[in-house]
Amino acid sequence: MAELFIEGQWCDAIEGATREIRCPADGSLVAAVSEATSKDTDLAIASARAAFDDGRWSGVSSLERGATLHRVAALLERDKATYARAESLDTGKRLVESEYDIDDVVGVFRHFASLATAESGRVVDTGRADVVSRVVHEPVGVCALISPWNYPLLQTSWKVAPALAAGNTFILKPSELSPSTSVLLMDTLTEAGVPAGVANLVLGAGPAAGAPLTEHTDVDLVSFTGGLATGRVIMATAAATVKKVALELGGKNPNIVFADADLETALDFALTAVFLHSGQVCSAGARLVIEESIADEFVARLVDGAKAIRLGGPFDDDAETGPLISSAHRDKVEAYVAAGLAEGAELLCGGARPDDPTLADGYYYLPTILGGCHRGMSVVHDESFGPVLTIETFTGDTDAELEAAAVEIANDSIFGLAGAVWTSNAGRAERVTAQLRMGTVWINDYHPYVPQAEWGGYKQSGFGRELGLAGLDEYRETKHVWHNIAPAPQRWFSGPADSAATQDGAS
Ligand code: NAD
Repeated sequence: MAELFIEGQWCDAIEGATREIRCPADGSLVAAVSEATSKDTDLAIASARAAFDDGRWSGVSSLERGATLHRVAALLERDKATYARAESLDTGKRLVESEYDIDDVVGVFRHFASLATAESGRVVDTGRADVVSRVVHEPVGVCALISPWNYPLLQTSWKVAPALAAGNTFILKPSELSPSTSVLLMDTLTEAGVPAGVANLVLGAGPAAGAPLTEHTDVDLVSFTGGLATGRVIMATAAATVKKVALELGGKNPNIVFADADLETALDFALTAVFLHSGQVCSAGARLVIEESIADEFVARLVDGAKAIRLGGPFDDDAETGPLISSAHRDKVEAYVAAGLAEGAELLCGGARPDDPTLADGYYYLPTILGGCHRGMSVVHDESFGPVLTIETFTGDTDAELEAAAVEIANDSIFGLAGAVWTSNAGRAERVTAQLRMGTVWINDYHPYVPQAEWGGYKQSGFGRELGLAGLDEYRETKHVWHNIAPAPQRWFSGPADSAATQDGAS
């Protein structure tokens, strides 16, 4: 209890409600946490507003803000084991994956710590000796940071670190399914020296605890990562008060394999692309788009690989991937596969819950491959956010036709988050990459990212960028200051007679 963090204090939800957090690996109770309503969210907004308006953080030098973020990174390293365990209990993901995630979070804080002092503005040459003109960056103000459950602390750090680096205050609303590491983070921020009221946390359901953030006049920016449907609602709601909005939404990402690729490596990565974290990755390579001439053998081996994936809980050393986040999410994935089969897809493997009795209490689903898919099917276009791969093939009589066919299939999506191209022909790799309408393209690789490079989507995968340099700009306003250092009348209009003439006339 008392997991809301407002004005530097831990508190219970005003209405006293709680929510049980259960580990998806076995349904065991992890915690019962406070469940906020709009009353709590309003208090958190008031706290963040007051903290912003009195300059207790925006008035701190960027050097000191950067130093604070470096301290956050060091504390996260110190407490890595606690954070990783909490993340695994909430999400069911393997402990080793949570440990990688916390390492990444440390890297994100370090990246924005370094950027805090960089790019502070520029002097503009106006061509006038009597004018000093400069462009400066200032914090946006009060930020609502709304995050999902698949990489709870990592997605949160992509928002919290730049928001703090730029001098904002914030209210964090993590997914109601995975709040534990956000709770830990508040104490870490306090220990690092972030003043009370700058970082606020509300837990609870999206409509009750999150929606008020997107409606309130005192919130200046909403940064949201989550599903497309929620993103549409948030964008529409935020329009009423013309907030700055950044949306990181879903994806249905093509993994394109040409016959001239290193097929052993492409095969290995095709498995990771889609089945990592049981497909609960926004950039999952859930569409295999493969040259027809190699498809049969490649897919047969892929099916063997998928069948060999070992499922298990966070602390099972033999497990290679874990459960889905919830029973409701598994139901959605099952419905998605059923729809694909009804549309004519062929079930090549999976398509069911595992029959291992030791997994019966968890929300597991077997790695699933659907063959014979084509662009007319909804299963090819909709995001399952589960361990489901669809197979599409392309062909062409000439190199140009082959590449155009692959690009046409890959781009045929409302999403544009990420994708990959596998080929040993460097020219082809570059030609195809240039045509792909996606925020990230991997060539002969899948999944790596670094905090130094921007992340975000084209099309309905969202707008705005996280990480990189642009990830800081989301949290900054830009102000042009024009300083006339030798002001004198301009005489555009004839205006009143000058004061000397008036005095002469009066005498
Ligand atoms: P979701 O949209 O259900 O929820 C995301 C967050 O929004 C949660 O905190 C939720 O409580 C909150 N929310 C829900 N309704 C709200 C409302 N009306 N107002 C304010 N907040 C509200 O998404 P999810 O199921 O948690 O996450 C999975 C989705 O996230 C997938 O579609 C995935 O592709 C996407 N995702 C995208 C990226 C990316 O970088 N583009 C990264 C991770 C996840």
